[in-house]
Amino acid sequence: MRFETIAIHGHGGPDPAYGAVMTPIYQTSTFAFKGILQPGKFDYSRSGNPTRKALEDVLAALEGGTHGYAFGTGMAAEATLLSSFSAGDHLLVHDDLYGGTYRLITSVFVKHGLQVDFVNMRDLEALRKAFKANTKALWTETPTNPLMNLLDLQAIAEIARAKGALTITDNTFLSPYFQRPLDLGVDIVLHSTTKYINGHSDVVGGAIIVKDAKLAERIYFHQNALGTCCGPQDAFLVLRGIKTLAIRMDAHNRNALAIARWLSKHPKVQDVLHPGLETHPQHELAKRQMTGFGGTFSFRVKGGQKETFALLSNVKLHTLAESLGGVESLIEHPWTMTHVSVPEEARRKMGITENLVRISVGIEHVDDLIADLDQAFAKV
Ligand SMILES: *Cc1c(COP(=O)(O)O)cnc(C)c1O
Repeated sequence: MRFETIAIHGHGGPDPAYGAVMTPIYQTSTFAFKGILQPGKFDYSRSGNPTRKALEDVLAALEGGTHGYAFGTGMAAEATLLSSFSAGDHLLVHDDLYGGTYRLITSVFVKHGLQVDFVNMRDLEALRKAFKANTKALWTETPTNPLMNLLDLQAIAEIARAKGALTITDNTFLSPYFQRPLDLGVDIVLHSTTKYINGHSDVVGGAIIVKDAKLAERIYFHQNALGTCCGPQDAFLVLRGIKTLAIRMDAHNRNALAIARWLSKHPKVQDVLHPGLETHPQHELAKRQMTGFGGTFSFRVKGGQKETFALLSNVKLHTLAESLGGVESLIEHPWTMTHVSVPEEARRKMGITENLVRISVGIEHVDDLIADLDQAFAKV
């Protein structure tokens, strides 16, 4: 089956109980045993729930994995994965990644004895040199948020494999519709399903997908032991969102590219960071590794914070908000919003500046979105 079909049918057919075409919300904590010593397929909803299972099966199929796990949030997925390492294990982490991931690793897991080094993984030589005897995994994210830098996943996974380390990829920005890390040799894919996978800004959720039975067992053990799974209502919503993932991603991609091209010609824009533009330094890698560019990108306003705030204060259709990946367009200021938890010095070093704006382009009509930006720029 192809992607669009899996998104709709990937969890199997209608529900076995009454033939419900849409997966029911099994809003129950526990399940009756058939008799003494005879549990059914599910016994307790932390350990397994039919609605969640349907979502997990679809996620696994869409990523080209064998096992999927759904969590209460993206951070719950990350915390579960990180907790499966031991004190004294060493992780190599890409130095440009989601602020919450940075915070979780440096403020929580380092305290519990995880050793980490941050490396710029665009530099494969630097990556090779950063390995230690106890390096157990590499943490990658591509494209990165909000700078839209890309990592060559195939090359990185190959290096990791040769050194006996796992490669983890946060695939939130593109969704499996535009990028399939497992096909490139990555071992563990992670998502904030809050973003494109659910796509409607009405639920928070996370996921992990693997294609190795041992790794699957390890993830499942920790999901159950920690109790980080999502509830059935949220699983239902994400499952419903997934059914339109393909057509939404195409629309996000088309709108974002059109807006990026429009911005790159605007006299009040300094530069546009979008991997689909020929001017992006990794445009060739983007075309090779991804089948589309997604709907989120960044640009720098000419001037400083004053000009940037003027733009952000005058948009009407674009909502000033964190998060991304929903059907509606959002705009935000990484310096004071999403990336404020990254220390100022680290932000500057990464290239997050006061005039940087991130935009999550929705699926509205592109002419309305451009008209809104146009009238806001006129007031800058
Ligand atoms: C939002 C996000 C997360 C965290 O997910 P939550 O659902 O907010 O907990 C992790 N990684 C990336 C790339 C994200 O955008």
